[in-house]
Amino acid sequence: FDDGPGPYTQQLLDILDKYNVKVTFFVTNQFPDYQNMIGEAHRRGHTIAMHTYSHDFDSIYANETAYYNDLNQIKAVCEAQTGVSPTIIRFPGGTSNTTSKKYCPGIMTALTQSIPANGYQYCDWNVDSMDAGGAKNASTVANNVISGMSKYQNSFVLQHDTKKYSVEAVEEIICWGLANGYTFMPMDANSPMVHHRANN
Ligand code: ZN
Repeated sequence: FDDGPGPYTQQLLDILDKYNVKVTFFVTNQFPDYQNMIGEAHRRGHTIAMHTYSHDFDSIYANETAYYNDLNQIKAVCEAQTGVSPTIIRFPGGTSNTTSKKYCPGIMTALTQSIPANGYQYCDWNVDSMDAGGAKNASTVANNVISGMSKYQNSFVLQHDTKKYSVEAVEEIICWGLANGYTFMPMDANSPMVHHRANN
């Protein structure tokens, strides 16, 4: 789950607890009032990963120094909330984003090298719920995730806990997955990672 925590994160945590499903949150500081949800998610057994502090493409992708300055800000928030330093990150827009090209040509290619060199791992997704695109209601989000998960041995599902209808799709996704032999797992340092190809 990307872009939170936000107003719907508490609801999501309660749904996940109902099924004892643990997930990975790629957190931001876009909704500072909900920073405490980072600690809450950590205490409930979910993985806290970093998605940047500001999520502002024009500032984070201005240059590598700007990216890491921003990353260090969200790292400090995570450390304050959980007592541990996250090691997994997801680039806003994914590694394959081309928006960054207008701010800094080549930055994604550079980051795919410097991120591991700085001790982090980055992870993209192979199943897009489209909750930030064409999917505007819970049933469409659930259908997109279920059809995507059917194609992979290891599915990395992209959803946003900042979208109410995406949170509302989670129960159907979990019930379908559990009924069809899937296991839901949070990422850790030893997890497989999926990488998009850098296009900038
Ligand atoms: Zn994002």
